[in-house]
Amino acid sequence: LLEARGLEKSFGDNHVLRGVDVLADAGTVTVLIGPSGSGKTTVLRSLNLLEVPDAGSVRIGQARMEFPAPGGRPDRRAVARLRAQSGMVFQAHNLFPHLTVLGNVTEGPVVVQRRPPAEVRAEALALLERVGLAGKAEQYPHQLSGGQQQRVGIARALAIRPALLLFDEPTSALDPELVGEVLAVMKDLADQGWTMVVVTHEMRFARQVADRVLFLDGGVVVEEGAPAEVLGAPRHERTRRFLHRLA
Ligand code: ATP
Repeated sequence: LLEARGLEKSFGDNHVLRGVDVLADAGTVTVLIGPSGSGKTTVLRSLNLLEVPDAGSVRIGQARMEFPAPGGRPDRRAVARLRAQSGMVFQAHNLFPHLTVLGNVTEGPVVVQRRPPAEVRAEALALLERVGLAGKAEQYPHQLSGGQQQRVGIARALAIRPALLLFDEPTSALDPELVGEVLAVMKDLADQGWTMVVVTHEMRFARQVADRVLFLDGGVVVEEGAPAEVLGAPRHERTRRFLHRLA
């Protein structure tokens, strides 16, 4: 379902991605781990073109783009098509403070995708129930806990009916006691067969839920494989050192 190859990205002199491949079959969970600054977030943002890669290609389902774009400028329609394939959950939830929970979830499908509001509303209410927020639809983000806000963020990502879900350290801004409820929703989604790419420092989640773990360091994938391999029996010294520091 996901095939990103040879991703390169520099910010000025800072060569952040140096040829990263991320391949994922439908229904699998891929977890990206690595030290701060290794490029994990940039990989994720490149998959939905919040960052435009300098080189490489991204395919999600039938939507595909190559970089640099022929002619220099990415075609806007192609960008929109690729972007519509993925729903992103951010570290801080980025909800619209002036919209209700329901308004936040329906905004993308109604305003961007122009789907019928009544249908979107019904679907959004079902999604809110699925993330454990039935009854919160008319509340505003500031009335919710951080964990609840993050679950609204997940419902919002699901509402655009993406092929792929991207999570960028979805629990790292949360108080420890709220982390579990968000990870539980994510595990649920994985069990339901969603294809997910997750940047996280939650190694227990990686061990329990991931099909593949990619260890990134210095803008390259140093090691990848099943969690039991990468986390349980890492082959590279850099991976071992990273895991050791976390332990
Ligand atoms: P962390 O775990 O700290 O979030 P990360 O592995 O996700 O780290 P990235 O956020 O991808 O790493 O950042 C990789 C490098 O790219 C860092 O040196 C960062 O400062 C730089 N960087 C990321 N985004 C930008 C940007 N928009 N402009 C300039 N530099 C950036």
